[in-house]
Amino acid sequence: MSFDIPCNHPRYESLMIRQRLADGLKDGLVHETGLIAHGRGEAFDYLIGERTIDVAFAAEKVASAWLLLAKHPVISVNGNVAALVPDECVRLAKTIPAALEVNLFHRTEERIQRLVNVLQDHGAETVLGEHALEKIPGLDHARGICERQGIYAADVVLVPLEDGDRCQALKKMGKCVITIDLNPLSRTARTADITIVDNVCRAMGQMVKWVEELHSWKKKELEDLCRQWDNKGQLHAVVEFISKRLKDIK
Ligand code: ATP
Ligand code: MG
Repeated sequence: MSFDIPCNHPRYESLMIRQRLADGLKDGLVHETGLIAHGRGEAFDYLIGERTIDVAFAAEKVASAWLLLAKHPVISVNGNVAALVPDECVRLAKTIPAALEVNLFHRTEERIQRLVNVLQDHGAETVLGEHALEKIPGLDHARGICERQGIYAADVVLVPLEDGDRCQALKKMGKCVITIDLNPLSRTARTADITIVDNVCRAMGQMVKWVEELHSWKKKELEDLCRQWDNKGQLHAVVEFISKRLKDIK
């Protein structure tokens, strides 16, 4: 950490997150454009009050149930996710259990290797992503490649902070797509089967807790929970929540 943030600073959490991304950039994990993407996320986090709202809490529960029901669940990890929540990624993958795959929009083999190393340093045994020989149909070369045993074969894929284009391409492959995106209006949010409108820094840890709890549920109970999910309706509820907060500002 290159700079000490006093813990009584009113924006402590937010500044710590920024610092982790700045360090991630220096360490070659985060792409420059990842910082810009984070800025858009921060703006929406401000609008929801920088906390996990009820709709997101429910989405995290349903997403965890989907991951438990999956035959071949995969968690896709990009630069921002590796810099912000490496520990939570590994814990979630172990608790489900699910495969971890490093998958980058701006792919270089060097950056893939760095992300694999970070996840292994946090306890991951196997990390996919280095041997990406398959293609997600409809995407141009580098951003569309993935591993045969990983995202390509997955039935349920968790793609935190995904790009809209890739989200649509994964859906076209017939996968159940779960995303974490603070922007309820993004193409990713609107295309995914389950959209968690929450900061990835809060959402991933909460999902570990849900998975631990849902392990004791029967398959039928998990299926019933998933069947009730109405993603469009929940996104509408988030927009209503934000609108009400804005209207109530004095
Ligand atoms: P889309 O491609 O889905 O239409 P976009 O082009 O606006 O969306 P991208 O740059 O592709 O956005 O992806 C970044 C997305 O990740 C943004 O929608 C932003 O809200 C979200 N985001 C950034 N940081 C976080 C974070 N820490 N937690 C949750 N979401 C985040
Ligand atoms: Mg995009």
